Amino acid sequence: MKTVDIAIVGGAIMGASLAWYLREEGFSGSIALIERDASFQRAATTLSCASIRQQFSIAENIRLSRFTLGLFRELKARFGADADIAFREKGYLILASEAGLPVLQANHAVQQREGGDIALLDAAALSARFPWLATDGIAAGALGLSGEGWFDAHALLALIRRGLRDKDVEMIGAEVVSIARKGEAIESLGLASGEAISAGLVVNAAGAHAGRVAAMAGIALPVEPRKRSVFVFEAAERYDDMPLIVDPSGIYVRPEGRTYITGGAEAHETDGPADPGDFEPDWPLFEEVIWPVLAARVPAFEALRQTGGWAGHYDYNTLDQNAVIGPHPEVGNFLFANGFSGHGLQQASAVAKALAELIVHGAYRTIDCSAFGYARIAEGRPFRELNVI
Ligand SMILES: Cc1cc2nc3c(=O)[nH]c(=O)nc-3n(C[C@H](O)[C@H](O)[C@H](O)COP(=O)(O)OP(=O)(O)OC[C@H]3O[C@@H](n4cnc5c(N)ncnc54)[C@H](O)[C@@H]3O)c2cc1C
Repeated sequence: MKTVDIAIVGGAIMGASLAWYLREEGFSGSIALIERDASFQRAATTLSCASIRQQFSIAENIRLSRFTLGLFRELKARFGADADIAFREKGYLILASEAGLPVLQANHAVQQREGGDIALLDAAALSARFPWLATDGIAAGALGLSGEGWFDAHALLALIRRGLRDKDVEMIGAEVVSIARKGEAIESLGLASGEAISAGLVVNAAGAHAGRVAAMAGIALPVEPRKRSVFVFEAAERYDDMPLIVDPSGIYVRPEGRTYITGGAEAHETDGPADPGDFEPDWPLFEEVIWPVLAARVPAFEALRQTGGWAGHYDYNTLDQNAVIGPHPEVGNFLFANGFSGHGLQQASAVAKALAELIVHGAYRTIDCSAFGYARIAEGRPFRELNVI
């Protein structure tokens, strides 16, 4: 049986970033990065909207995103002069009705304390700044002036995985199908090929399938795939200053090159676990739910043309829509990097750095991720993020 010091299950943005930061932190033991589909066609990483924001409701999430922002700012220094993830720093604009205003203001106060560059604008100021925006029913909006926007997720993933080439990380193309645990320790991973890998430490970076991977070790993790549809459309009008707009209905829209992308229309009441093989967008959502909202918010979108769409699976934490980070309290050599619930792409670098520090130095140093620990899951004590988009 092959033996490694650290086995990481899942080689997309979370798993690859962790391997990278482990070496950055000086880990010299053996690392296996186990990925069942190196095309990443169904990974959330490549199916995401690839956006980054500081507009969260809790400080801990803001800190994670701000760390990743710092990495974006020094990408060329870290990965070479050709490193480019096409970061468009156009901001988020989160709109609130009168009823939602107190929450927007409370979130804004948290964001200000954490150094977020966010302006709170009333309806008149919004109209003056964005004349193409209809502010009916809007009391205010929070606009990211810097540090928020979108980027190329494929490029970021490729950059990190390319960065692993000279870092002595063994890439294993295989599916983990079982985990052998003896008492409070994981002993080995079973692969679909029938082979097994003995590991000193196992990190769950399996995205939407993290709940299933944890279950293989007899561990309950409330993370399941939730289908999210994204639609692409064209419009005659192009607004170069358009941020990623989040309407009070939860529907979002942002430019994507010469087109626009939109989503966020899934109904709370019917939202549930997705069939792991179902990647068909919920096409009626666009016409029936999204388009009327878009046309009301940006009147020029009355005349748009839908040109495509896709669906991906959120790594949805059903307890509190927040990440689960760090070791299992009893099974100490099983670590979580899961449950990001729609904001994991922008948090992966930060979580990877934090976990690498924990593994190498025995404690979080740069970002304290204790609040995201598994203890709250075991106790059923939510650590809730209000801004889940
Ligand atoms: C539609 C959509 C929009 C999103 N928009 C954003 C956004 O704008 N900003 C943001 O920050 N986040 C966004 N997210 C969330 C973000 O994409 C995820 O949180 C993040 O990519 C999770 O990364 P990951 O590496 O943990 O998981 P994934 O990217 O899902 O990767 C998990 C990997 O594990 C592998 N794997 C799973 N099980 C096994 C196994 N048993 N054996 C071997 N390999 C296995 C899979 O093949 C996969 O490659 C969005 C997600 C979706 C679906």
